[in-house]
Amino acid sequence: MPAVRLEGRSIALKIRDEVRRRAEALQARAIAPKCVMIVVEGDGPGMLYAQTARRTGAVAGIQVEIVPIGAKADTSGALAIIHRIVDESTVHGMLLQRPLPERLDDQRLVEAIDPRKDIDGAHPFNQGLLAVGKPAFAPATAAAVLEILRESPAPPLRGARIAMIGRSAVVGRPAAALLTAADATVTICHSRTRNLAGITLVSDIIVVAVGKPGFLTGDLVAPGAVIIDVGTNVVDGHLAGDVDFESVAAVAGAVTPVPGGVGPVTTAILLRNIVMAAEQLHP
Ligand code: NAP
Repeated sequence: MPAVRLEGRSIALKIRDEVRRRAEALQARAIAPKCVMIVVEGDGPGMLYAQTARRTGAVAGIQVEIVPIGAKADTSGALAIIHRIVDESTVHGMLLQRPLPERLDDQRLVEAIDPRKDIDGAHPFNQGLLAVGKPAFAPATAAAVLEILRESPAPPLRGARIAMIGRSAVVGRPAAALLTAADATVTICHSRTRNLAGITLVSDIIVVAVGKPGFLTGDLVAPGAVIIDVGTNVVDGHLAGDVDFESVAAVAGAVTPVPGGVGPVTTAILLRNIVMAAEQLHP
């Protein structure tokens, strides 16, 4: 039987409806939920993500402003921008689009974010909460993985064996922390993992966030497994995931498509984190 396509769009719509209701409740108290996304000039994918958030945010009653860091700005210039946003009381959420170019000190900039406005859970304070299983703001992509698994016909997360392929600070590690907190048994795999197939073939769920188109092939997948494809790669001008869809769909029970899987849910969760920040700043 061919695999079920786990569409993210319907899940995203549900979240955005909830966000709209919460935004309206804030507006009724004269609070206009607002977020600033900081993007370094020349970061194409970062700008695209910010523009998508701005567009979907507008429909849900959330203002998303995009503030650029100049292509030649140094760390102190970028810090000045972040401090200004931290001090701006009409801004409830802030997100620094990464990875940053070498000339900018990632650690210093991330630590300058106000943890209360840290809608992508990048600040060490929020990462610490996530690491001990008490997430406040979880990184949106990682939270999207969890949301899709909860909303899908996937096996219950409690006790499920999950292979998390990729260990980045933005996706792999936070996703593994969230899934572990949901009582799954998670094995984190990376480029130094020996015998990857030995792990994936005994996994009920495989989450792949590697950044290599077609990386996960059908021979790495157990019959009926659920596959979450986080990869967003541009191939010949088109978006492609990390999953070789054809060979995987022939074996798996369910697969998220790219585009239309993790991406829309990620944006919706980012918006939810913005209303949450506004609610917490104005209890
Ligand atoms: P990253 O920082 O480059 O991390 C890639 C991870 O893959 C690393 O942990 C790396 O291992 C691992 N890896 C590389 N080759 C491998 C191999 N042969 N076998 C096993 N593991 C291997 O990338 P990222 O930021 O996590 O992003 C991953 C993908 O997700 C990209 O396509 C990105 O565009 C996409 N993404 C999507 C969203 C979304 O909302 N849909 C959001 C963010 C990112 P090492 O640690 O050993 O190097």
